[in-house]
Amino acid sequence: YAAKARGGGVLVYDEARDGSGRHRLELITQLREGLHEHQLVLHYQPQVDLRTGRAGSVEALVRWQHPRRGLLPPVEFIPLAESAGLMGKLTAQVLEEALIQCSRWRTEGSHLQVAVNVSPSVLIDHDFPTQVEYLLSTHHLPPSALVLEVTEDLLMAHRDRAVSALTRLRKKGVQVSIDDYGTGYSSLAYLMDLPVTELKLDRAFVATMTSSARSVAIVKSTTHLAHALGLHLVAEGVEDAETLHSLRAVGCDLVQGYHLARPVPAHDVPRALVSATSALNTHRG
Ligand code: C2E
Ligand code: MG
Ligand code: MG
Ligand code: MG
Repeated sequence: YAAKARGGGVLVYDEARDGSGRHRLELITQLREGLHEHQLVLHYQPQVDLRTGRAGSVEALVRWQHPRRGLLPPVEFIPLAESAGLMGKLTAQVLEEALIQCSRWRTEGSHLQVAVNVSPSVLIDHDFPTQVEYLLSTHHLPPSALVLEVTEDLLMAHRDRAVSALTRLRKKGVQVSIDDYGTGYSSLAYLMDLPVTELKLDRAFVATMTSSARSVAIVKSTTHLAHALGLHLVAEGVEDAETLHSLRAVGCDLVQGYHLARPVPAHDVPRALVSATSALNTHRG
């Protein structure tokens, strides 16, 4: 296979997407074993509030500690898990680990919220809301400690079932974010009816703000839209101080990205929170 250099300098083989059925099956078997052996690892990336300068939440991002191939990013195994019907199991593990970690942080005195990504198949499973409520109460967390990130394409494709699951969770107090906002096809009318608490604008718009006046206009009008709907706007993929400055200028509420902090393992989170808030304050003034 062709060896590919990826972000972080990890060398991996693109087995999952080389089209060969045998390797696909092998990888699915390994993933099934990996889930059983708890080989999934969570990294967490801080989100900083531009107004208060505080990092009040982290997004949990899953990686797979593969026994031979090293630490694999989600793109290497999430599509595979999806096609093999393993997303329910994967999400249950991610959710539980993220909530355990969140309650640990709270015990240590930092009142963080944790955001977990949830894919289509999982959200519309009729057991999902019950599972979430059960895990929250088991780990003594208020529902508002959890943010579920869902992508808008899913919401369109499974509208009724997705809306009823989200409505139930929202009633309990769980926060709901539309991830990668702007890349799907939601109409505004539809968006207004969704039980969500935030819009998370896709990196594509954020990353091009410094080079494109159109992107600035899109980010600005999306911020206004979010505020008019009573939602807050999160910008993902903030990679430099200049972008941070533009986001502040257009009134964006929360920022996340390499410029503030990269996703890190749980034990590095306290340090990442400090670095994220200082990146913000260095810039201020
Ligand atoms: P996402 O939810 O949109 O997460 C943001 C992705 O952007 C993450 O990639 C993060 O590491 C990366 N990122 C953060 N800041 C920057 C930046 O400044 N610049 C750039 N270029 N990238 C940045 P990652 O960890 O590889 O995750 C990719 C996607 O995989 C996620 O996109 C999410 O859709 C999915 N994913 C991750 N964890 C889970 C999970 O537990 N369950 C499900 N269903 N999906 C997950
Ligand atoms: Mg996300
Ligand atoms: Mg996103
Ligand atoms: Mg994204």
